[in-house]
Amino acid sequence: MKIAVIGAGAMGSLFGAYLAKAGEAVTLVDIWQEHVAAIRSQGLLLSEEAGDEVVRLDVVLGTGGLVAVDLVILFVKAAATRVAAVDAAALLRPGGRVLTLQNGLGNAEVIAEIVGAERVLAGTTAQGATLLGPGRVRHGGRGETHIGRLSGEVDGLCAQVAAMLSNAGLPTVVEPDVRSLIWGKLVINTGINALTALLRLRNGQLAELAETRQLLALAVEEAVQVAGAAGVALPYENPLGKVLAVAAATGQNQSSMLQDVLRGSPTEIAVINGAIVREGERLGVATPVNRTLTLLVQALEKNLLPS
Ligand code: NAD
Repeated sequence: MKIAVIGAGAMGSLFGAYLAKAGEAVTLVDIWQEHVAAIRSQGLLLSEEAGDEVVRLDVVLGTGGLVAVDLVILFVKAAATRVAAVDAAALLRPGGRVLTLQNGLGNAEVIAEIVGAERVLAGTTAQGATLLGPGRVRHGGRGETHIGRLSGEVDGLCAQVAAMLSNAGLPTVVEPDVRSLIWGKLVINTGINALTALLRLRNGQLAELAETRQLLALAVEEAVQVAGAAGVALPYENPLGKVLAVAAATGQNQSSMLQDVLRGSPTEIAVINGAIVREGERLGVATPVNRTLTLLVQALEKNLLPS
């Protein structure tokens, strides 16, 4: 299978490196010149608990020259999804697929608008990665990846992609109700990301302070109401308990949104708490806490922009 990873940051580099090590024909695609140049000249430095390893793999700046790709794995941050999906459409062969494992709600739908819903695979991953610098990535948490189609129909190609990722050391399961898993992760991120970013707390601290625990509970309760109104059955029984457990289990971590704020990069607030607000509006569920969190993070992003 000929594969392109569009968005070769932390996660794209990780998935690309594992696929390349397994002998798959994978090319990384990114617009970050320094990163592309570093991988091209020195290979990708993959930092694992067991030690560092240099992985040689193809990388291109922009989509230049790539054609007839069977699978695009799209790993840009949400703000770039539309642009990346247009690139994906141009380099896919007819019938080729796009897989998104991005966080938040709405990425798969944006990609579907551009390439057609029947060509989109979506899902979630419990793998984690952090960029250490150009050409350097650290593999963080490990866990299962779940993929499926928004329509719920699972086909042979979906199973083939799952088998390929599993063979490459990224254990992947085909999931008929992928929407439930995407919402499940969304509710967790809704409780953790904005609050950690605004208050500059590590995940574990959210559950320890009475005030932040209460704010987290309010944000999660709204998200649960919206999920219910959208007809989504969450993949766990006790949402607040689940979010607090994840915050505790990842206690020392800085959430991706906090990392973005500290770097002065745009966050994914629009597809996390912002998505709860939008879906709430559509479905007639009030979401004042998530609206406030969204506006606060958006204001914070503006302050950080260079003048
Ligand atoms: P990242 O910022 O490290 O990487 C994104 C990359 O996309 C960057 O290298 C950037 O240069 C590139 N890019 C931007 N626009 C592009 C374009 N038009 N064409 C090609 N490349 C482009 O982000 P990440 O942490 O790898 O996260 C990617 C997605 O995966 C996000 O939705 C995130 O929420 C999700 N995710 C991340 C983790 C994690 O541990 N980092 C875990 C699960 C899910």
